[in-house]
Amino acid sequence: MTKTWLELLYKVIKRDICTSCGTCIAACPPDFIEMVRGKPKRAIKRAACENCEICYVVCPQTGFDTRDIESEFFGMKRRKDKDEHIGIYRRILTAKTKDKRIKGQDGGIVTSILTHALEEHIIDGAILTGSDSVWMPKPVVARSYEEVVGPSGTKYSISPTLVGVRDALRKGLENICIVGTCCHVRAARLMQFLNLEPLARSIKLVIGLFCYENFDYQGLMRGKIEDELGFKPEEISKFEVEGNEFLIHLKGKIFRVNLEDIEEYVHPSCAICPDFVNELADISVGSVGSPEGWSTVIIRSDTGEKIFSALENSGMI
Ligand SMILES: Cc1cc2nc3c(=O)[nH]c(=O)nc-3n(C[C@H](O)[C@H](O)[C@H](O)COP(=O)(O)OP(=O)(O)OC[C@H]3O[C@@H](n4cnc5c(N)ncnc54)[C@H](O)[C@@H]3O)c2cc1C
Ligand code: SF4
Ligand code: SF4
Ligand code: SF4
Repeated sequence: MTKTWLELLYKVIKRDICTSCGTCIAACPPDFIEMVRGKPKRAIKRAACENCEICYVVCPQTGFDTRDIESEFFGMKRRKDKDEHIGIYRRILTAKTKDKRIKGQDGGIVTSILTHALEEHIIDGAILTGSDSVWMPKPVVARSYEEVVGPSGTKYSISPTLVGVRDALRKGLENICIVGTCCHVRAARLMQFLNLEPLARSIKLVIGLFCYENFDYQGLMRGKIEDELGFKPEEISKFEVEGNEFLIHLKGKIFRVNLEDIEEYVHPSCAICPDFVNELADISVGSVGSPEGWSTVIIRSDTGEKIFSALENSGMI
C-alpha cells in the first residue's frame, strides 16, 4: 500500500521527530504542504494525495541507510579505525577567510566557499538560512556575492531551509549549493540518492555545519530572550555558544546564559539526532577544534576537495 501523508503525520510529525527541515514541502508536487507554527501541515484532504507517497519517502526521519549514501557520494566505505567517529574524510584543517567583507560566525569559511563557487560558475546560487530583523530564520535563495554574504552567521533556531530548493528551481537556477545543519544535509542527500526530480538534479554541492543542538524560535527568542531577559531581538548582533554558555551580543556587551537554562527550548528532534559533524556533506565546517575566529573544515568528497583546493590556491583563505 502506498505510504501517504497520513503515515508521515503519525510516524514523524506527531511523534515529535520531525526536524522541520522543509523537504516534504519542497517535494510535494501540488504544493499541499505548508509550515504552520514550525510543523508541516497538509491543507488538502486525503483523496487529493491518491497514488502519491513522495513526502513520506523523501523524509529523512522515516529511516534510511547512511552507508548507501556514503558509498554513492564518497565512493568508498568507512575505513575501520579512521572514519568511525567523524565519518569519511580526506582532509581536516583549520582556516579563516581573508575577505574583509565577510563577517562569518567563525572563520567565514562557509561564505568564502560560496563566493568562490559563484565566481567560478560552479554554482549559480545557494540555499542558505537568513533571518529577519528579529532573528526569525528563513530559507534564502542567494544568487550574487551580496546575497551570499548577507546570511552569514549562525541563527540558533530551527529553519525549514530545504524549501529553498523548490524556490531556487522556480527561479530558474540549475546548479545550487545547499548549506545546512546535519538534518538539512541528510534530507538533501536522501533527495539526491532517490534521484527525486526535478529537485535533485540541481544540487551540485552540499556544505554541512557541525550541530550539537538547535532551538525552537518562539521558546528561545520570544519566551526567554524577549519576555524573560527583556532584550529586544532586533538589537542583538550575534549569538554564539562557548563551552556551556550561550552568548548574546548586545550593544557592545556580551550577556551569558547557562545552556542548562535554555535546555527546555531545544527542538525535540535534536534529542535523537545521530550526527554532529555533518557526516554526509561534501565539506563540513564548525568551530570546535579551532582557535576563536577560525573554522574547522572537514573535506569529505572529491567534489569538496576540488572546490576547496581551488579556494586555497586563490589565496582568499
Ligand atoms: C544551530 C547550529 C548549531 C551549531 N552548533 C555547533 C557546535 O555545537 N559546534 C561547532 O563547532 N559548530 C556549531 N555550529 C556551526 C557554527 O556555528 C558555524 O556555522 C560554522 O563554524 C561555520 O562558520 P563560518 O564562519 O564558516 O560560517 P559563515 O560564513 O558565517 O556561514 C554560516 C552559514 O550558516 C548558515 N546558517 C545559519 N544559521 C543556520 C541555521 N539555523 N540552520 C541552517 N543553516 C544556518 C547560513 O546559511 C550561512 O551561510 C552550529 C551551527 C548551527 C546553525
Ligand atoms: S521532511 Fe523534514 S519537515 Fe517534512 S516531516 Fe520529514 S523531517 Fe519534518
Ligand atoms: S500529494 Fe504526495 S507529497 Fe503531497 S502531501 Fe500528498 S502524499 Fe504527500
Ligand atoms: S542537533 Fe541534529 S536535529 Fe537538531 S538542529 Fe542540529 S542537526 Fe538538526
